[in-house]
Amino acid sequence: MPVLVMKFGGTSVADLARIKNAAQKVKREVERGYDVIVIVSAMSGKTNELVGWVEGTSPLYDAREYDAVVSSGENVTAGLMALTLQEMDIPARSWQGWQVPINTTSAHASARFVSIPRENIDAKFAEGFKVAVVAGFQGVSAEGRITTLGRGGSDTTAVAFAAAFGAERCDIYTDVDGVYTTDPRITNKARKLDKIAFEEMLELASLGAKVLQTRSVELAMRYKVRLRVLSSFEDTDENSGTLVCDEDEIMESKVVSGVAYSRDEAKLTLLRVADRPGIAAAIFGPLAEAGVNVDMIVQNISEGGEGGAFTDMTFSCPTNQVIRAKAAMDEAKAAGSITFDDMVVDSDVAKISVVGIGMRSHAGVAATMFKALASENVNIKVIATSEIKISVLIDRKYMELAVQALHDAFGLEKA
Ligand code: ASP
Ligand code: MG
Repeated sequence: MPVLVMKFGGTSVADLARIKNAAQKVKREVERGYDVIVIVSAMSGKTNELVGWVEGTSPLYDAREYDAVVSSGENVTAGLMALTLQEMDIPARSWQGWQVPINTTSAHASARFVSIPRENIDAKFAEGFKVAVVAGFQGVSAEGRITTLGRGGSDTTAVAFAAAFGAERCDIYTDVDGVYTTDPRITNKARKLDKIAFEEMLELASLGAKVLQTRSVELAMRYKVRLRVLSSFEDTDENSGTLVCDEDEIMESKVVSGVAYSRDEAKLTLLRVADRPGIAAAIFGPLAEAGVNVDMIVQNISEGGEGGAFTDMTFSCPTNQVIRAKAAMDEAKAAGSITFDDMVVDSDVAKISVVGIGMRSHAGVAATMFKALASENVNIKVIATSEIKISVLIDRKYMELAVQALHDAFGLEKA
């Protein structure tokens, strides 16, 4: 039997009526001849509530017990989904992570898959079970403790099962009907994409288009799992939603596929850093150790020409890491490993990025982007590019305007 993986997010299983609605979608696929692996999230809001309870016990809680508690939301929905399917005369049973077993590392709250052996579930399919309902987000460590994969992790569970079982596709049912050219709340010209390449989705996912957990897209790309994002609140068929797939499957792609943004960015500049070989390592080493996720980096030309004595170093990081970044730099200065005159922090910036695999073979994307921003009088503070992406930092108050202008400039409303 061909295998299909269907994942239902928190809003899709938020109450019994919605679980029933999701079960109906499962039933349809069973009737089409699939053995179905259903991955469920916790009911919406449940995981937050569980996290809150754990944090209420102590700020220095035991991460193993955190996982024991927060993984429980998925256990409830897995059981309820199996019961609902049984009511529809579909042979189904639930699986918690340890029962499969979903073997993971013991990095609690951010565990990674080690292996997902097929035997137990395959044996049940062979017995006549049609559906395996698996609790997402969780696994078991070599020490036999329950683990979780990090927030949003059930997307990654779904992709891992699709890879392990050679599934025809991995359908991610959620509360939006697909992946859009940009956030529809920012411009009503945003258009749903029929297909998007893994690499583009990876850029969009990590840039703040919060449809899929980034790790799930990485995993799908590595194992070439065809991923589909679609709504559980609409009637759907084989062509619904957005297919995230290999770029070979996309016949004609535009140069730019989407415009992403990230609101909570900060820009930090170290002024008059004493320049010498090893200075970048002396700055970014301590930042990494402090857990600061540095994104863009700009080093200015040194004052005084070749081998000059001073330079300015600018980098960006999430707003909520500014305090940590400042502390790390002050410490490094106090320890004498770097010297600089001053540190300037701008916490009111946003990052806007245009993404598209077509950029590899087309020139002029940067020029179009900068022209569009210039014509709206939006000043660019930092620029960074990669093979399929150009990102800029701008004042946050212009974020919506910039997204709209770029969406227009690249003609994204038209298919
Ligand atoms: N329930 C977990 C969370 O809210 C995992 C998931 O839904 O993907 O993060
Ligand atoms: Mg999610």
